[in-house]
Amino acid sequence: MKKLSGLSLGLLLATSVLTQAQTKDPVVDGIVKEANENSQLEKLAHELMDVIGPRLVGSPQMVQANEWAVAKYKEWNIFAKNEKWGEWRGWERGASHIDMVSPRVKSLEGMQLAWSPSTAGKTVTADVVIVPDLADSLAFAKWLPSVKGKFVMISMLQPTGRPDYNWQEFGTKESFEKMKKDRDVQTEAWAKRITKTGYSARTLPLALEKAGAVGIVASYWSKGFGANKIFGAVTKKVPTVDIALEDYGLLYRLAESGHTPKISVKADSKEHGVVPTFNTIAEIKGTEKPDEYVILSAHFDSWDGGTGATDNGTGTLTMMEAMRILKKVYPNPKRTILVGHWGSEEQGLNGSRAFVEDHPEIVKNIQAVFNQDNGTGRVINLSGQGFLYAYDYLGRWLSKVPDAIKAPIETKFPGAPGAGGSDFASFVAAGAPAFSLSSLNWSYGTYTWHTNRDTYDKIVFDDVRSNAILAAIMAYQASEDPAKTSREKSVLPANAKGEPGAWPAVRQPTRKGGLD
Ligand SMILES: [Zn+2]
Repeated sequence: MKKLSGLSLGLLLATSVLTQAQTKDPVVDGIVKEANENSQLEKLAHELMDVIGPRLVGSPQMVQANEWAVAKYKEWNIFAKNEKWGEWRGWERGASHIDMVSPRVKSLEGMQLAWSPSTAGKTVTADVVIVPDLADSLAFAKWLPSVKGKFVMISMLQPTGRPDYNWQEFGTKESFEKMKKDRDVQTEAWAKRITKTGYSARTLPLALEKAGAVGIVASYWSKGFGANKIFGAVTKKVPTVDIALEDYGLLYRLAESGHTPKISVKADSKEHGVVPTFNTIAEIKGTEKPDEYVILSAHFDSWDGGTGATDNGTGTLTMMEAMRILKKVYPNPKRTILVGHWGSEEQGLNGSRAFVEDHPEIVKNIQAVFNQDNGTGRVINLSGQGFLYAYDYLGRWLSKVPDAIKAPIETKFPGAPGAGGSDFASFVAAGAPAFSLSSLNWSYGTYTWHTNRDTYDKIVFDDVRSNAILAAIMAYQASEDPAKTSREKSVLPANAKGEPGAWPAVRQPTRKGGLD
């Protein structure tokens, strides 16, 4: 419209004011205002990530986090409790010090893997050797006794510490292609080297430990500057440490060139026997249909190389903040709004699977579950998870979300039921309409997912704020909807064998974990 007469401009303004007035919803406005003007996200993030720290299942920090969350909800006058669902090996990370002491002295960047044995208060100093490239398992068995009293390196030497995007930007096309080709060849050769030992990547550390190695040295580069993934150890008596790419490369090259590097390791973790594990559950009771449930969902546990800031600190903050805002702006929901902060998602959705198993009365009366668990980014994808009529109710609820938050969200209906990946899958398997609020990636897979760099500074608070608003409005709308949501499933495409597609089955949680 290029030119408007005074009259038509006046009409246009009147119409748009009218439309706004008609769609204005004081609860939606209240949610947006509270989220933007009284955000608690930064404070909650600091308390959870910086003060409490990572939340490995079975660690005292996980229980501290459970207790902290209950206290927060009580502060906000929201009923909350910790519900025991299982037991786990109790293990607490301590300080890890790793130093190269020969041929020169350098402190190395590295740490124990989760559940790694400690060095029992001592500092262990020994030579470092590389798993050799031998003809076969017989040759390896002959070599094996030589590891006695030594640290053994079991990861490949990375040919470059620069991520591919860096090569792409600055390398010549030829050198980038050459590097990738060399790396592929080396990766394949390394896999063969491990296979020829007669052991797998999982059983090799145990064989080395049994043969008298004093520790296992690994490096799981996450393909980004400074980022390593930190998972769990398999050794039973000697420590397993992960060393950053740069320092691992240093040791490897020295060992290979015959300079026999020597390292000192002190690893101070503690064992705490068998400990109980919990889900933190909080709820705002429904006034009209208290037995029907809208569930906000995010796992509470994490791996512990960083502080679990984006996996899943941000999902946790999103749902806590949404609950706080709802209690303030919408204190009397029609249906009960429950939040689940699940334990041990990382070992197989254990907390949420246990909840589904323990609460059939809730599961059969679920209106909707909204789970968030793939990083700090604003939500950009929403799938109907195979529920035939999800487009109808999700579409209606989404229409109430402010444009700036709703516009980037790509919906997919009916979509396919997720069989895993995060806790929504525990509910989908039980036939309950559960959905994943799926985020923009912000280099999640490379830089923060299960890495030593998953820390407070990676949180993008504006995006998390936007997600808290989205979660609160969707919960509000799901609670208000006059109709109960349909659970009708779509017919799934046939599998590769031509058999009809099957809905994911309910799976049992591991209720006692980390113990042999
Ligand atoms: Zn996660």
